[in-house]
Amino acid sequence: MARPIKATIHMGSLRRNAEKMKRVAGQRSLWAVVKANAYGHGLERAVKAFEAADGLAVIDLFDIERARRAGWDKRILLMQGFFKPEDLKIVQAFDAECVIHNQEGIKVLQSLAPFRDLQVHIKLNSGMNRFGFKPEEEPLVRQTLQAIEGVTVMGVMTHFANACPLYEMDHGVSVANQIKALGAIAERKEGACFANSAAALWLPQVKGDAVRIGISLYGITPDPMVPSRDIDIEPAMTLSSEIIAIQDVNPGDSVGYGSAFTATRPSRIAVVACGFADGYLRLTPAGTPVWINGVLAPVVGRIAMDVMTVDVTDVAEVTVGTPVELWGKHLRVDEVAAACGTIAAELLCCITARVPFVEDNE
Ligand SMILES: *Cc1c(COP(=O)(O)O)cnc(C)c1O
Repeated sequence: MARPIKATIHMGSLRRNAEKMKRVAGQRSLWAVVKANAYGHGLERAVKAFEAADGLAVIDLFDIERARRAGWDKRILLMQGFFKPEDLKIVQAFDAECVIHNQEGIKVLQSLAPFRDLQVHIKLNSGMNRFGFKPEEEPLVRQTLQAIEGVTVMGVMTHFANACPLYEMDHGVSVANQIKALGAIAERKEGACFANSAAALWLPQVKGDAVRIGISLYGITPDPMVPSRDIDIEPAMTLSSEIIAIQDVNPGDSVGYGSAFTATRPSRIAVVACGFADGYLRLTPAGTPVWINGVLAPVVGRIAMDVMTVDVTDVAEVTVGTPVELWGKHLRVDEVAAACGTIAAELLCCITARVPFVEDNE
């Protein structure tokens, strides 16, 4: 038998989340962001489930080809641009569109011209200060790009450093200030793509004719202060396993490596087949919940490579073989992430290759 751990991808949830975010986008077109293997859910599954989207936005060059091979025939955007000049061959071969974010990129295009209809998007820096031209450079950048034979400027985009409403209070890089930094461009409708999940959901002042939606497609709230049930999206991944051993320990007995947990009462400890080699973070603190038989039980002791230990003293009817949900429909991955001091996206991307993935159509 294989170890009982598995990641279940809920295809129906992915599909309904995409439909929901398409409604949120309204008149704007929806780029479904599928970077990092669709936030850990599998690019091919995203291709199947995100029919409601108008295009896919990727970071990895080879995801363009992967998406085409999986049957995606709508638009694809290489969202961080090319990394090496030869990347543009793949962009063109698979009919994708490419972000240009700096002068070096423009020079490469000038040196490789003429192109056969290369469609580019100008990335602007609205305060994140990682990629993009200054908004005031946009007219000249556009002119320069359009002067290159075979290049068509499709539009402008920016990625907000902060887009949660909570952030609006007294912070420098508030959405209000990021919009201000964009100047008149912020008012542009045609060929403008500014909003990520948070901005699309909560910031109607962010305009444009397209949105780039990632995290909420996977059923995760972009702002832990606003639970995902309030925005009507469904968790799309369940990470589950089983209890593979049970120990009854006495007060004073310790559990696991480093004896990091010592019982203070007669305790029932379940050993669960899930460890850091599955991608469950070793820094997960004691007390982080797992879901067993309808209740939450705390992780105790250290997460090991292949197993974790859980205090099930207060859980009814646990036996070897009892299912355990590490996160999913009953226990939200963002709650687990919060306990670990991180965000859900990191946990979803950390699942390792030895964990089998299965699909259901719920
Ligand atoms: C990841 C990413 C997004 C999606 O953001 P979410 O908060 O996950 O919706 C949008 N734009 C760019 C440039 C990104 O890198």
